[in-house]
Amino acid sequence: MTTNVHLPRLAEVIRDSSLLRDQRRAKSLGQHFLTDPSILSRIVDLAGPLEGKAVLEIGSGPGGLTREILKRNPSHLIAVEKDPDCWTALKPLLDAYPSIHYLFIGVDFLQLDVSSLLLSPNRPWHVIANLPYNVGTEILIRLLRKIHHFAAFTLMFQKEVAERILAPCGTKEYGRLSVLVQHLTTGRRVMTLPPGAFTPPPKVFSSVIHLVPKPDVDRSLTPYLEKVTEVAFQVRRKMLRQSLLSLWPKDELGKVLDQCKIEAERRPETLSVAEFEALATQLRTPSYDFS
Ligand code: SAM
Repeated sequence: MTTNVHLPRLAEVIRDSSLLRDQRRAKSLGQHFLTDPSILSRIVDLAGPLEGKAVLEIGSGPGGLTREILKRNPSHLIAVEKDPDCWTALKPLLDAYPSIHYLFIGVDFLQLDVSSLLLSPNRPWHVIANLPYNVGTEILIRLLRKIHHFAAFTLMFQKEVAERILAPCGTKEYGRLSVLVQHLTTGRRVMTLPPGAFTPPPKVFSSVIHLVPKPDVDRSLTPYLEKVTEVAFQVRRKMLRQSLLSLWPKDELGKVLDQCKIEAERRPETLSVAEFEALATQLRTPSYDFS
């Protein structure tokens, strides 16, 4: 969808605003903006067709991805941005696309109640975000806890974090985040960008990943999986017979591991997602209350 409203180029928006002037503040907000329209367009294309869809964008910054999302004519767009310096750049987009239900929310995403935010329309939302490095994984975990609201996620992280999210069992990158994400979603890396693609450039490469919720997954298991993985990966070199003692007394733990067909001498990075799910299922039985 095109607009008759003249929108200034993003580079001009950044130059003419107070954005990025205070470098320490910009760093604390993870502000590395994308301004190249062809890169922005490619990222939003990776989310798939958005016409008539409901989209949530987290950390809109000066609105590069926001503009590209709006061009694809979604029915709804909620854009969340914490930094008031970005709001002046985002507000004109409301006038530019009057037929789209565009809601711009100027708050910290971590303070939002995601479920009430996404009630209307009550159908699966697409999440698109170039996430701030410092809170990217925390935001992802919050989204995963509410996964029933979502159709797909197209998310940019620093490359190392993307690798941890998608890491296969047995690798050094495989950890708690990999298990939680792979329990709930099927994912792949779809793009990697060098530091020079951003203003200001970060020190590291960034990657976009695309995650699609698994249809038949047991979502009620997630809190138990969070607990088991937290304990198991706390000290990676510890064997399970030691690390899981905070969840089960020694004799009980032996039985649990036997039942799951997992040797007590194994270390957490050798356990598949299915094996962690088996342990989480044992933890869910009513006799174990870890709250
Ligand atoms: N989407 C823009 C782009 O791609 O150019 C900006 C991405 S920038 C990496 C991350 C953005 O998230 C920044 O604009 C920052 O101010 C915002 N941000 C940081 N922490 C946030 C939070 N807790 N809630 C909402 N927005 C946040």
